[in-house]
Amino acid sequence: MKNIRNFCIIAHIDHGKSTLADRLLEETGTVAGRDMRAQLLDTMELEQEKGITIKLQPARMQWKDHELNLIDTPGHVDFSYEVSRSLEAVEGAILVVDATQGIQAQTLANVYMAIEAGLKIIPVANKIDLPAAEPDRVAAEIGQLLGVEPSTVSKISAKTGEGIHELLDRLVDEVPAPKGDVDAPTQALVFDSLYDGYRGVILYVRIMNGQIKKNQEIRLIQSGSASLALEVGHFTPARVEDPALTTGQVGFITTNIKSVQFARVGDTVTLGLTPKTEALPGYKKVQPLIFASLYPTSQEEYPKLKDSLEKLALSDASLTFTTENSAALGFGMRIGFLGLLHLEIIKERLEREFDLDLIVTSPSVSYKVKLTNGDELTIEQASALPDASAIDSIAEPWVKGEVVTPAEYIGGILQLVIDARGRQTKLEYLDPTRAVVGFTAPLAEIITDFYDDLKSQTSGFASLSYEWDEYHEGDLVRVDILLAGERVDSLGAIVARSKSEVFGRKLCERLKELIPRQNFEVAVQAAIGAKFIARENISALRKDVTAKLYGGDVSRKKKLLEKQKKGKARMKQIGKVSIPSDVFMQLIKKGD
Ligand code: GDP
Ligand code: MG
Repeated sequence: MKNIRNFCIIAHIDHGKSTLADRLLEETGTVAGRDMRAQLLDTMELEQEKGITIKLQPARMQWKDHELNLIDTPGHVDFSYEVSRSLEAVEGAILVVDATQGIQAQTLANVYMAIEAGLKIIPVANKIDLPAAEPDRVAAEIGQLLGVEPSTVSKISAKTGEGIHELLDRLVDEVPAPKGDVDAPTQALVFDSLYDGYRGVILYVRIMNGQIKKNQEIRLIQSGSASLALEVGHFTPARVEDPALTTGQVGFITTNIKSVQFARVGDTVTLGLTPKTEALPGYKKVQPLIFASLYPTSQEEYPKLKDSLEKLALSDASLTFTTENSAALGFGMRIGFLGLLHLEIIKERLEREFDLDLIVTSPSVSYKVKLTNGDELTIEQASALPDASAIDSIAEPWVKGEVVTPAEYIGGILQLVIDARGRQTKLEYLDPTRAVVGFTAPLAEIITDFYDDLKSQTSGFASLSYEWDEYHEGDLVRVDILLAGERVDSLGAIVARSKSEVFGRKLCERLKELIPRQNFEVAVQAAIGAKFIARENISALRKDVTAKLYGGDVSRKKKLLEKQKKGKARMKQIGKVSIPSDVFMQLIKKGD
């Protein structure tokens, strides 16, 4: 055990975590040169394609008689739950900061988490091979943040490999060996899991006490489910079998648990024969920030959607969902997400990994509604809001946020905070040229325009992180959307009264762009209660697409009809109007 070192890599998105992991795997000879490819630990197709890490990924390495267990983590704010879970499984963290950029918002958020988890932080300034790098300035910045000498910040290039050898030595010297008792009753923390169609649930564990051998009976203390440890082993990042996992190690257990709700992240694995073992503290349940509904384009796929979500939830412990039935869209699932990127990723994973074709409704935050009769309800979508006359007050979630920015943009950012109905809470300087602006604001504003406006106002130089704070009452109203005179539930939204007219107008304009012409004129209207606040008209379609091909070329005509049919397949009938099934996703992306 004294030769084990467990650590994770944390950083703002794109600062080089996954590339550093590549170099560590290479330098330690874990992955042979010919098997090397960039961002090796981003094993998901979607991760490779988008160039971002979505899932945490463990890998074990050998270095000078020591066993190093590394966990690579995502950097985007939507996936910080992955980071927080990794932190509980390790004793140290490499904090990577891009030397051309310096500390960013997610750097701060990660540092707070690592300090809270009591980890030894090893700071590094990365990308020193780039001409624009300022390793000394960035080292000073990190030194000040952590309260350490700037000289303790390692200067490395994850691209060229400079400084990697020394960094490995530092890990061995400075990260504490795991504590724990090999002879105590077995306790292993489940920090992640995965569903394997051929075997069952694969648990990612950190052994805190005792050990687990292949073929032993195991039990998950909180869920009570029993299983056999069909295989135990470690990641390289591929799964490699071992005879046993022992105190301090990070690895996996293949189980024969088929039902996914019996293998939750945060649970404690113990041996079947040690019934009195205590559960580890596990994880706080995460709070979903936004909610959206997913419907299969064809209703027969509904059971498949439900089943797929349950399986996906195993490798994404933050997912929460309930069944839902909409008049327009049929049966679907209402899902809680940690942000818009999370929503997009889950939709794509369901479509790719489970071969589903889905409609996603516009996301909403959750609201606490007090009724005049004293009742209180929590709603997660505008259509569930009762009639205005029955409502006493509506409260919406607020977030605490931090923006890290070059000082010249501070004024503009404070204005953005005010436009988002928020309040500045803090202004601190990292150095004379860069500042941290703290604020609180309604979540609904942050997930819609705030982030995009921040990026465009600061030419991409400012970064944002935020977390759930609490509910505050607001002057809120529901804006309804009517298509051809019929209210469409899934298009309505709850917004601040002060912004409702502009919101309604913009939404109508955008829908006019997105909805193709029909055989009749379609009115797109926005209303608050009985009052109409905006209207656009989509004029009627004039000609049949094939009309101009009189007689003549039959095959061409067929092709055109075929094309039209394909187009239709991705349409959804809502009342009298057929709209493209991705209209809700398009609405999130805004018009530009
Ligand atoms: P992550 O989001 O923190 O995992 O960052 P990645 O490892 O995916 O790296 C983001 C980008 O920075 C990629 O294009 C890398 O090739 C690049 N990168 C990472 N480290 C270095 C480095 O040391 N030097 C240079 N020049 N580029 C780097
Ligand atoms: Mg990465």
